[in-house]
Amino acid sequence: MNRYTWMLFRAYLPAMVSLTVALGAMLWTSALGDIDLLKHLVPYAKWLPPIALLAALLSGGIATLRMWRWQRGEEPACAGCGGALGRLRHSPNGDYRKCLCCGGKEAVSP
Ligand SMILES: [Zn+2]
Repeated sequence: MNRYTWMLFRAYLPAMVSLTVALGAMLWTSALGDIDLLKHLVPYAKWLPPIALLAALLSGGIATLRMWRWQRGEEPACAGCGGALGRLRHSPNGDYRKCLCCGGKEAVSP
């Protein structure tokens, strides 16, 4: 896996996890719904697929927008490797963004 592929994988990981949750919940409510132990939870689990699909759509859209803006140079890039930066993270030492390419931390000035 090259650096660009790894960066895309990291950017779209939340969307892929949400999609996996949605598919698992769909499997639960359809194929596994006949199992007596799980049958009682199906009315609650039927709400998981639409919520997880919406989360996947939102996080995938945000990742796509972030990558598009990074490619156009409108998004701040890593000083070390030039890769796209992830979401804003808070720590006692100050806010920072993690590079999706090399994993380095970029301090964010307030
Ligand atoms: Zn970097």
